[in-house]
Amino acid sequence: MNEFRLIEQIQRETRLVSTTGLDSGVRLGIGDDAAVLELPAGYHLVAATDTLNSGVHFPTDTSPYDIAYKCLAVNLSDMAAMGARPRWALLSLSLPDADPEWVKSFTAGFQSLASSHGVSLVGGDTTSGPLSVSLTALGVIEPGRQLTRSGARPGDLLVVSGTIGGAARVLELLQSGQPVEEQHLLDRPQPRVELGQVLPGYASACIDISDGLLSDLGHVLRASGCSAKLELGTLPQAGILDGLEDKTKWAYQLSGGDDYELLFTLPPPHEAMIATWRQQLGLSLSVIGEVETGEGIRCIGPGGEVHDPQNTGFEHFSQGA
Ligand code: ADP
Ligand code: MG
Repeated sequence: MNEFRLIEQIQRETRLVSTTGLDSGVRLGIGDDAAVLELPAGYHLVAATDTLNSGVHFPTDTSPYDIAYKCLAVNLSDMAAMGARPRWALLSLSLPDADPEWVKSFTAGFQSLASSHGVSLVGGDTTSGPLSVSLTALGVIEPGRQLTRSGARPGDLLVVSGTIGGAARVLELLQSGQPVEEQHLLDRPQPRVELGQVLPGYASACIDISDGLLSDLGHVLRASGCSAKLELGTLPQAGILDGLEDKTKWAYQLSGGDDYELLFTLPPPHEAMIATWRQQLGLSLSVIGEVETGEGIRCIGPGGEVHDPQNTGFEHFSQGA
């Protein structure tokens, strides 16, 4: 394949149209041996990377637009979970053939999300091979402001953004051959970047929900040395779960992945901020439980009964993924 022509095309089609008027900080972008980026004075660099392989992380017939969107979204979601402002991205592409139409759709998907978050593509690598997309997101944060998984303390409120369980439900319906109107829940997750940026200074811990609520909450609790009580009746429900039996619905909400909402813990003195953020961001925020001493997760049903979740979230490789 003509790698250089493809790189030129990527460069041309991802040139950031500045909507914010902010300096992109790119002193040298695509086209040299490496990019040179200017960090705002006094900021730290935040870096995250994620790879999506065809047939594993997305179906082989997924459109290039959707692959690019998803790959950027999952990385921006990691930036959000740290409280960082995403600025730049590096893209490693392994492509079976050099198809300009494929690249055109890919860069359109990438730009649709990158431009709304002011993210510039500053470099990458292009090779010939099985379809695989690896993206590195770079962001900035003021020193010491990062939201980690380890800061939750007993008494903190558990708060989740948006709704959960929708993406997993969509995937299951699609896999069983049923038509789904809400496919955007799976294909176009909205990384909660704006929310991530208001949380530092208030939230004690934060994570994005990629593998399912129980699984990702478990990471926070283990890192923090705490347990938690989850009130199942308060879990925010995607509309696509309407009409399902409670137990089925809870299974999606507790164990379904791919929603990319933020889960954070909030010390009670900051509880009033929840209403402020809701209004400021136009985003639903739900208090779904509380951090406690000890270990593990207790799921409490609406009538006060204890619910035993069978399935504890999608874990890579353990189920053949
Ligand atoms: P080198 O051989 O020095 O690594 P390459 O030919 O791989 O250089 O890349 C040339 C330029 O194009 C570099 O600036 C690199 O960052 C950029 N680039 C290559 N592939 C991509 C890609 N998929 N997306 C964005 N930039 C890319
Ligand atoms: Mg290279």
